[in-house]
Amino acid sequence: MKITKIETFRQQVELTEPFKISFRTITAVDTLIVKISTDAGLVGFGEASPIEQVTAESVDTEQVALDFFADLLVGSDPCAIEALHTKMDSALAGHTAAKAGIDIACFDLLGKQAGLPLWKLLGGNANQIVSDVTLGIESPEKAAQDAKKWVAQGFTELKLKVGVDDASDLATVKAVREAVGPDIDLRLDANQAWTAKHTIHMMAQFGDLVSAVEQPLPADDTRDLALVRANIDQQLMVDESVHSAKDALKIVADGGADLINIKLQKSSGLWGAEQINAIAESAGVNTMLGCMLETKVGLTAAAHFVAAHKNVHFADLDGFLTFKAPAWLHGGFENDGGVFTLSDEPGLGMTIDL
Ligand SMILES: [Mg+2]
Repeated sequence: MKITKIETFRQQVELTEPFKISFRTITAVDTLIVKISTDAGLVGFGEASPIEQVTAESVDTEQVALDFFADLLVGSDPCAIEALHTKMDSALAGHTAAKAGIDIACFDLLGKQAGLPLWKLLGGNANQIVSDVTLGIESPEKAAQDAKKWVAQGFTELKLKVGVDDASDLATVKAVREAVGPDIDLRLDANQAWTAKHTIHMMAQFGDLVSAVEQPLPADDTRDLALVRANIDQQLMVDESVHSAKDALKIVADGGADLINIKLQKSSGLWGAEQINAIAESAGVNTMLGCMLETKVGLTAAAHFVAAHKNVHFADLDGFLTFKAPAWLHGGFENDGGVFTLSDEPGLGMTIDL
């Protein structure tokens, strides 16, 4: 099989309500849907969905990178995934979101050629996963109300964004815990907002209200991770500090994390995710699959990865819940609250009208 054409479609998706995290508020997002056509008549889809503050890439830069890769990769075998990554990496450093778009579309093609859903192709034996849902930074009252709504819909794990105002963060977590009761797992994500000292101080105050904190320190402050981990009772997860297998290796070797948040947009897709997860698993560190503000195309690829790997303990693949459902996108997975059931159709198991 040979790639005959790579096209990119810039799609705007509206959020159902504004979403606030420590460094910005979002109302709509643009994302790039990648379509790879082949001489076998099979078509694969992927998604490139960058967040500037995380990968230093924008939809504009990734559009340029994807146009470049389109010229570079026409004529290549889409099933030779390692060879494709080698080609892309030798030609252009970085641009992990564009590479993820290509990677996901090629895995979609690989599944379609094999007649297998990705969760099976990647070695899994079950098609269900459990995802959390993330609450943006809101007033304690609004957060408690939203948390109750999600729990009533069947979610059992909630992730709360924090890091703007300490008093408000504490009040919000207390209000949410009170609203949802003792059995719902609450995790925090501070998105690089705190110092080591401040993290230790804050986590002592949160106590057993929460089970984990994600990326409290700036992405490049990996030196203090082990210190923080030794001085908090909750689990420490890293996100923005880990983009590649090399990042993961350094952090687990230093004892700097209990959990790693893998995102396909950071890891150049499923190929890089496999490497990070393998390093984490070897070090006894579990992983989570997280997401950017992606549509179900990127989320479905990540959900297949979760279903296929026992070391992936958590999923934070809720992006689609905050979007108005795009009319051009069908299939992937169905969700009943936090339980996502993947399709048995080959590849991603999606139909995309683009
Ligand atoms: Mg995060």
